[in-house]
Formats: sequence, C-alpha cells, structure tokens
Amino acid sequence: MVGFPMPASTLLTFLNTGNPTGLKFTVEHGGRRALFDFGLEHAPGRAPFSMGLEPRPGRELADLLAVGSAPRLDGVYEGWDGRTAVFITHMHLDHTSLVRFLHPQVPLFYPAAMEDLRSAVEASGYLAWRRPAGTPLPDRRPLTWGEIEVTPVSVDHDLPGATGYLVRTPDLFLAYTGDHRWHGLHAESTAAFAEAARGADVLVQEGVLLEPPAAAPAAGALPPLPRLSEHDVALGFGSLLASTRGLVVANLYPMNRERVALLAGTAAASGRRLFCPSALNG
Ligand SMILES: [Zn+2]
Repeated sequence: MVGFPMPASTLLTFLNTGNPTGLKFTVEHGGRRALFDFGLEHAPGRAPFSMGLEPRPGRELADLLAVGSAPRLDGVYEGWDGRTAVFITHMHLDHTSLVRFLHPQVPLFYPAAMEDLRSAVEASGYLAWRRPAGTPLPDRRPLTWGEIEVTPVSVDHDLPGATGYLVRTPDLFLAYTGDHRWHGLHAESTAAFAEAARGADVLVQEGVLLEPPAAAPAAGALPPLPRLSEHDVALGFGSLLASTRGLVVANLYPMNRERVALLAGTAAASGRRLFCPSALNG
C-alpha cells in the first residue's frame, strides 16, 4: 500500500494497480474515506488463487487476506469504522469480487444503471453480493460524504451501467474513469465524461482496447494496429458465418449484453440461430 500526500489534506492511496487491474484506491479528507472499487485482480497463473485453486469454503476472506489478494483495510470487513464509504464503477469481477465481504453497515454505492445486471448476476449465483445490496446512484447527481463530493458520470464499457466518478474535496478535483472504452457503441458517453472531467487535478483511468488477432511478428518496427470497433466484430462474425458450413462456436462474455445481442442479430440475418447453453457461465 502506497500513500501519496496531496496538497493540503487530501490523501490518495492506491491499494492495487494490477493487470487486469483489480484497481482499488481511497480518497481521504477530513476524517472521511471514499473507497473506489473492490474487486480481485484477474491474473490466472500469477494470482495465488487462480487456475482452479480456490480459497477454503467458509475461510475465503481470511485466505484472500493472507496472500494479499484482498487489501488489509480496517473498518470495512469485521465492522464499520463510521468513516468509509465504498463506490463501485461497474460489474466486472476485477471491480466487484470483494464486495460480498463488506460489513453490512458499510455504505455501498453503485450506478443505478448497473442494477439490472447486478441483480441478475446475484440471482443466478454467478457472483455473491453484500446484503444489504447498497444504494444505486442516479447518473450525474452529486453525493456528499463529509467534505468529499462524489458524482457518478457514465462511460461506455463492454457491459451495461458502467460509470466513472468525479471526486471533489476542498483541495482536490479527481476524475476516475472507471473502466472505459472509445471503440464501443456509445463512444459519445465516454466523450461526455471526458468533457465533465476537464480541469481535474488528477486523472485515474482504466480502459479496454479492441485489437485484431495478433499477427506474426515482422522484422523492424511493427505498423500500428488498426483500430477496430464493435461494428467490425459484427461484420467479421457475419463474414465468418457466410464462409462456414455447419456449427460455428463463439466464445462470449455473457455480461457483455450488447455484443451478445449484436451476434444474435448477425446470426439471425444469416439465417442462423444463436444458442446459449448457459446464461451466465464465463
Ligand atoms: Zn471492466
């Protein structure tokens, strides 16, 4: 854990900056603390619990703390310290896996647009969630936590309801994108976040790219990769369907509802049917 004293009295502390992230950080001011995101870094083969090795049933949090996968934080697990609130940006597991271990009294906030997916994920048993579930936040409505003002501002990402946060204290304006993208179906949402974040003292960002399959390395400098969009995914899928007889298997991430719908529409336009054997495995 590394703390970065900021001018005056705001303290910004990064708890994890992994890859893919599991990004977690806190903003502290005037005795209050805002914790942003609470997931597990997704690092198969590097994370102590991965590749099928799981924490012991009933001892999950203790095991995750013991190996450093969960941050050692006072006031959020065993009880509430009366000063920490947790803000979630989106449903991806590297931002949410630890939410279920939060003490029931810890104030928990997440974007209202995430609720449909959150409740479906919880009801299906795909991901356990804290009880009570927390408070959905309307987009762009500021919430004050002591002298810390937190405003959710939606961004585009590859699942519904992703948001960034604008965080203002008396001496700091921080913009956190959450996880975002520019190549998706709602790039204007990400652009609107960027506009709202204009003038921030600190920008914390995480993003995803859409890359073509890796080409064989060529001698000399590689040319820049072409930029792909979600529309290119549908076009590529359509041409694959047109050139293939019989079964086509697609590896889908079910929380990416827009892409599932896109591929279903492309399949239907090709006279095929998209069959999902399991709604939320993956
Ligand atoms: Zn994400």
